[in-house]
Amino acid sequence: MRCDCHVHVFMDGLDYRKAAGRHRDGVDESVIRSHLGEYQKHHITYLRDGGDALFVSLRARAIAPEYGITYRTPVFAIHKNGHYGSIVGRGFDTMEEYAQLVREVRRLGGDFIKIMTTGIMDFTCAGKITGEALSYADVKEMVHIAHEEGFAVMAHTNSADAVRTAALCGVDSIEHGNYQDEDSIAAMADSGTVWVPTLVTVRNLLGKGRFTDEVLHQIADTQTRGVQMALEKGVQLATGTDAGAWMVMHGTSLDQEYASFYKILGETEDVKRKLGEGNQDIFEKFKIS
Ligand SMILES: [Zn+2]
Repeated sequence: MRCDCHVHVFMDGLDYRKAAGRHRDGVDESVIRSHLGEYQKHHITYLRDGGDALFVSLRARAIAPEYGITYRTPVFAIHKNGHYGSIVGRGFDTMEEYAQLVREVRRLGGDFIKIMTTGIMDFTCAGKITGEALSYADVKEMVHIAHEEGFAVMAHTNSADAVRTAALCGVDSIEHGNYQDEDSIAAMADSGTVWVPTLVTVRNLLGKGRFTDEVLHQIADTQTRGVQMALEKGVQLATGTDAGAWMVMHGTSLDQEYASFYKILGETEDVKRKLGEGNQDIFEKFKIS
């Protein structure tokens, strides 16, 4: 089974505004079919979407079997208003509103809950994350509510502190997770959280001129050390690309993600087996229980 455990089918890797605009007045199925065709061409049979606000991933799930693909979607990602996440989903102010959104995912037939607990990397300054991370109390309550409804939780989370918080709160997978340290890696290992480090999300930006390569290298190097530490400490790792994000193309980017893992960890049977186990774990957990 070839798995891309983190994609956004509503984006095209080139121009976020244009790509989202194509679905603004109703989902454009031809775009989805072209992306699914790319996955089929690359023999990818499992996709887990990170969500969108336009129901594109929900439609993709309905037609994915025609391409031999098992498709899982949270429908939309959920963020706290005033924090990062509106580009992929819906916001809440109170926990009651959050619970309503979780029930809305259930009503729409979503497979799991995607939450945003931090912002993204500040590409002008290595080590910095945009915005403010959600509090331990918030994340704990969000994970609890989702689990009570029978959903696994995929968490968009960067920075060591926020990863540690998310892992302690029991999220089922951590996405991106840039800037880990020993404590956050230990927390993931202890809690059995699967880490999807989306290596190519940063690596594919190198040499493109949009951001400073020096900063990109610093971010990538920290992720390299984190992934090495994760393997040592027994953290489950899985392959996800964030396909649809700028310069991360549907289909082709999975081979790039594998190449990045192999460059960091070595292309050994042991590494292949471990990535296979991490993907299998995602496959089994991220469906409604
Ligand atoms: Zn994403």
